[in-house]
Amino acid sequence: MTFINQWLRADIKDIKAYHVPSSKNMLKMDAMESPFGIPEDLKQDFLDCIAQAQVNRYPDSNAEELHTTIRSLMDIPNDLGVLLGNGSDELIQLLAMACNSGDIVMSFEPSFVMYEMVAKFTQLNYQGIKLNDKFEIDLENTLKAITSNKPKLIFIAYPNNPTGNSFDYEAIKEIIKSTDSLVVLDEAYYAYSDKSFLAEIVNFSNLVVLRTISKIGFAGLRLGLLVGSQETIEQLNKLRLPYNINILTQASANFLLKEKERIANNAKIIMNERSRLFDELSLIPELAVYPSQTNFLLIKADNAQSLCGSLKSNGVLVKGFVVDSELENFIRISVSESKENNILLKHIKEYYG
Ligand SMILES: *Cc1c(COP(=O)(O)O)cnc(C)c1O
Repeated sequence: MTFINQWLRADIKDIKAYHVPSSKNMLKMDAMESPFGIPEDLKQDFLDCIAQAQVNRYPDSNAEELHTTIRSLMDIPNDLGVLLGNGSDELIQLLAMACNSGDIVMSFEPSFVMYEMVAKFTQLNYQGIKLNDKFEIDLENTLKAITSNKPKLIFIAYPNNPTGNSFDYEAIKEIIKSTDSLVVLDEAYYAYSDKSFLAEIVNFSNLVVLRTISKIGFAGLRLGLLVGSQETIEQLNKLRLPYNINILTQASANFLLKEKERIANNAKIIMNERSRLFDELSLIPELAVYPSQTNFLLIKADNAQSLCGSLKSNGVLVKGFVVDSELENFIRISVSESKENNILLKHIKEYYG
């Protein structure tokens, strides 16, 4: 037996590594990234700003300026606390670290895979409650599971990834009211959705909202935030590593996130494209397109696995799902700008010929 195999925690050996496919020279429509990069007219000022970063020094541990910038971008009230993370993934991990070993983490199936992965990493027990066939929450079933299993942490992606819908608002409120578990509303797609739980935080002491800048144009910066009562955030902040937001991310985000109007406008462009893609794809009889409150579309497709392969060989990367999983006949595509969406459309139409 090799050293690492006899040294490693047994359950880590069984974990399958999170697979990120190579995307060199591919049209990337698999990871909900924004197609919009740094605006041409800002590039020089951006470079000047980055050049001033003191990379020989540790970053501002409290990222004070960034807190102000992000509160303003997302209209976060001053009476709420904010915790910044190296992507919202880091904050999911931080929440898991706050649990006792063996505690139950609950979420829905299908939903964001990181909840289960992080639960495994941190030796927590994961329980996924199945969504109904419309990918909605089965409230009765969920409340029963909460009563009998007493989860410590409940993750609700709102809107949900990979299904694209927002669960019923009132059902979520019932869940929050029914439990003394910490309920995390993961609003990674808030910019593409018309509802949010941000304003409910003052009403429920066990509610926090998770957000990220990854889906609004800045996935490469790795920045997420957890919003909660000041008291909740103050306690959780003890688990944050001191310099988790690096100096280049702080400088870049402070510069780029001040473009509030441009960011909102980019989201509007994507939502218009989402509705156009929805209409066009719905005309293809081999596809069933699901309504979306996000920057992606979930599509049930004849020969989904083969369609994915065909798109890939034509240079278009979309998300396929594992064979024998509930979503094996589905694909998920990120909505991009019109030129790229048209390339995708062309290849899908050719495939079904
Ligand atoms: C993409 C996504 C995230 C990941 O956010 P990062 O800030 O990039 O780590 C979190 N939650 C959901 C539901 C997502 O879809």
